[in-house]
Amino acid sequence: MATTLQRREMFVGGRSYAGSGSERQAIINPATGEVIAEVPKGTEQDVDRAVQAARQAYTEWFETTPKERSEMLLKLADALERDGETLADLESENVGKPRHLFLSDELPPCVDNLRFFAGAARLLEGRATGEYMRGMTSMIRREPVGVVGSIAPWNYPLMMAIWKIGPALAAGNCVVLKPSEWTPLSALRMAELAAEIFPAGVLNVITGDGEPVGAGLVRHPGVNMVSLTGDVATGKEVAKAASQSLKRVHLELGGKAPVLVFDDADLEAVNAGIKIAGFFNAGQDCTAATRVIAGPRIYDGLLASLKETIESVKVGDPMSPDVEMGPLVAKEQLERVSGFVERAKKGGATVLTGGAAIGGRGFFYQPSLLAGVTQDAEIVKREVFGPVVTVQRFKDDDQAIAWANDVDYGLAASVWTRDFGRAMNAARKLQFGTVWINTHIPLVSEMPHGGYKQSGYGKDLSMYSVEDYTQIKHVMAAIS
Ligand code: NAD
Repeated sequence: MATTLQRREMFVGGRSYAGSGSERQAIINPATGEVIAEVPKGTEQDVDRAVQAARQAYTEWFETTPKERSEMLLKLADALERDGETLADLESENVGKPRHLFLSDELPPCVDNLRFFAGAARLLEGRATGEYMRGMTSMIRREPVGVVGSIAPWNYPLMMAIWKIGPALAAGNCVVLKPSEWTPLSALRMAELAAEIFPAGVLNVITGDGEPVGAGLVRHPGVNMVSLTGDVATGKEVAKAASQSLKRVHLELGGKAPVLVFDDADLEAVNAGIKIAGFFNAGQDCTAATRVIAGPRIYDGLLASLKETIESVKVGDPMSPDVEMGPLVAKEQLERVSGFVERAKKGGATVLTGGAAIGGRGFFYQPSLLAGVTQDAEIVKREVFGPVVTVQRFKDDDQAIAWANDVDYGLAASVWTRDFGRAMNAARKLQFGTVWINTHIPLVSEMPHGGYKQSGYGKDLSMYSVEDYTQIKHVMAAIS
């Protein structure tokens, strides 16, 4: 994409929609700090218009068969796959993702996720039909919830949009999607492609800030369910606001993934795993491998090798074909990450590599490794959401598991050991929605992704996510 200013509009009722207000939001390229596009700053009136469009579309969408919905989702998957180069430009320029990594590691799962949801549309079932009272037949109907307000974050704009619209549409709902105010471009492109495939109003994309647009969706009486991926604090606000109408809430929130490295672990595999899982997407990943908890004997060797591994991460222009890490998404995020590391240093942490912004234009931060951190340190307890890994040394397995669990989050964890029993013991005791053994970060469409504790509730991906976007009805008939 050329870096000339692009004027983009929302997508409501199957058409481009400029919004009711006059304010526009500048969209920044985080690698350069330049404005690359502008979109409407949505208003509460725009929320209402999109919800009305979705409600209107729902009457007919409710009549569609699983096969029809499945075919449309498959067509959208094909359209995204064909449009890969454009989407790669948008995600790279808007989020700072290395373009070649988006094409190799993000677009294929996005397309596969949608194809999975297309298949899942045809497999939804109620558990039982039968006679549970003499003379009566009972059956279970699994029905859509209605109109879903979907609110997405900025770290994987296209993928998060797909994780939201895929299961919701498969289950027969209509959607109003609000991408992050920082990164709306790929979702708007997806809406443009979807407009050729889905009936008008089934999928609407509106742009703007958390307040009034995200919060407006939560407040709107025409929205039956809200799905949010975002920060824990936002999750709490959304849950609180949704309690006013008791509308259903689906929350995928932050994480602080522990990486338990036992003394018998394969050091090379651990290094390779952390290089990817800690620094992919510049560490801006809710499952990022950020919190290494290492055994007493492997600790020194791990620290030395990890320093070398982290120093090998190639940082630079996201358009360059050999770059592994681009900038952070925004100036605010750069300040947030810098603040965490500065406070950790003041608290006694040792910076083994990195520990500072790169300077110059764009929002780049050095891949960083910190040791000498205590379990109660802020940098151990709170999500940094940047390319920063900490290492702690544990005494025994019980302490390792206790430290791993001693955070408010519960999204994902990994265990590295050659001892099967030890791995399974840890997998059982770790309070996280995903536990990886001798790997960290791979996801598949068929398996659920979602949190324990303050990482939220509800699942993304898998049949569980599609079920989350349905409600169960009991129909009972007298059969005299
Ligand atoms: P954020 O919470 O700031 O924003 C997320 C979305 O919520 C944005 O679209 C924002 O406009 C909207 N929003 C903000 N305030 C709102 C309100 N009061 N009501 C309704 N909507 C509101 O999060 P972010 O900074 O965009 O994303 C980073 C966060 O997302 C991290 O905490 C990360 O861990 C989390 N995340 C979680 C997952 C997961 O699967 N669990 C995946 C990706 C990101």
